Amino acid sequence: VTKGFRAAKNRLAGKSELTPELVDESLRDIRVSLLEADVAFDVVKKFVARVREKSVGELVQTTITDTAGQKRKVSPMDHFIKICHDELEALMGPVDTSLKLKPKGQLSGIMMVGLQGSGKTTTTGKLASRLLQEGRKPLLVAADIYRPAAVDQLKVLGERLKVPVYHEPGIQPPELAKRGYAAAREQKCDVVLIDTAGRLAIDESLMAELESIKGNVQPDNILLVCDAMIGQDAVRTAAEFDRRLTLDGFILTKLDGDARGGAALSIKEVTGKPIKFLGMGESMDKLEEFRPAGLAGRILGFGDIVGLMKDFEKVVDEKKAEEDAKKLLSGQFTMKDFVEQIRMVRKMGPLKDLLEKFPLFGDLTEHLNPDEKELTKIESMYDSMTAKERLRPDTVNNSRINRIAKGSGRKVEEVKELLQKFGMMQQVMGTIGQNPGLLGRIPGFK
Ligand code: GDP
Ligand code: MG
Repeated sequence: VTKGFRAAKNRLAGKSELTPELVDESLRDIRVSLLEADVAFDVVKKFVARVREKSVGELVQTTITDTAGQKRKVSPMDHFIKICHDELEALMGPVDTSLKLKPKGQLSGIMMVGLQGSGKTTTTGKLASRLLQEGRKPLLVAADIYRPAAVDQLKVLGERLKVPVYHEPGIQPPELAKRGYAAAREQKCDVVLIDTAGRLAIDESLMAELESIKGNVQPDNILLVCDAMIGQDAVRTAAEFDRRLTLDGFILTKLDGDARGGAALSIKEVTGKPIKFLGMGESMDKLEEFRPAGLAGRILGFGDIVGLMKDFEKVVDEKKAEEDAKKLLSGQFTMKDFVEQIRMVRKMGPLKDLLEKFPLFGDLTEHLNPDEKELTKIESMYDSMTAKERLRPDTVNNSRINRIAKGSGRKVEEVKELLQKFGMMQQVMGTIGQNPGLLGRIPGFK
């Protein structure tokens, strides 16, 4: 059974007019998809109401302004999808990924809070790593005194990052935080990151402790770290932490897993506080600044990959499909495959269909519309590339880009754009492929 966003797309495919009935039916499909992605019921209701209003209100309009600022003629389906995507983005905005930091050299503080296992300690390390790259001098305070392993865990991260970690046994967290600030001043550090304790659920003694830490050091930022996998529970947690501590923003972790991240929408809506970063893995470099377009795409389209891979299978012979899908999902989908697929798109359209499931690739699919002119452009650039460049477009430097542009008679910008978009696709496909839960659900792709 196809459902959710995909069902909505099927329903709208080929329709020349977006009637109120069609809008309602499609919105029913999408409501299911959003609830499955852990978006809270109230938020889904609000979203559906906004999309309905816009879709019905703009029935006659058949042009939209694309990301490049160009007016484009669009089908009702494209139009409806764009409205969904934009509204989802709007629900997540306004974007503010900044941290409140004083000028370099003056001491600023970041207090990390959240439930046990949400990723506080890991994210503290990731943030320190990021701050180091920005030329700051972080110091970590190990204020989770209840599990001895927690202090060691932070010390290990500190050693790896070459960042000092402050801890003294036998001292209560609020006092530890205060002394941590003093240690930072002494060691000429300019950002204190306080890694606090968590509990399995909200608990009064923990909240009181966190309030006391806050009172003692008045950190410039209090960030809630939330596990994307806990879904709806994240909303209640976030609301309570915000009520007690007045959060500055939150960080959603473990988005490299199965979770579609709908909880982010709910937290944003309930607390009104911005999403700052997304945790995309266990290692220190896996922290991304939050971008609504990426998460909106994920919430809308991610769950549909099973169905879409089956489509993919139908159109090419099965063995080839399996190989292509495996390559695609392992991030080893080369530019050669990409262009071969584009050639096939002319007849069958699997890749276009595939990419359209990821609203993230809105721009890219424009290039894959079976528009002869676009395809000829891409092919001409591809034809001007060497075998090695086709396999590893990421290695193509500027002088090579110039050569390809000359050889194909295209503009340098066009070559760059193609390489960049392809690289982005390769990366995202790789991320999807690393998700074993998802792969396991695709028959034949174990
Ligand atoms: P804390 O109890 O809140 O301090 O949580 P930890 O930082 O100790 O993290 C708990 C577990 O989640 C550890 O095994 C981390 O490696 C893991 N973890 C944290 N962030 C991420 C993430 O973004 N992705 C994945 N896959 N694992 C994460
Ligand atoms: Mg911890």
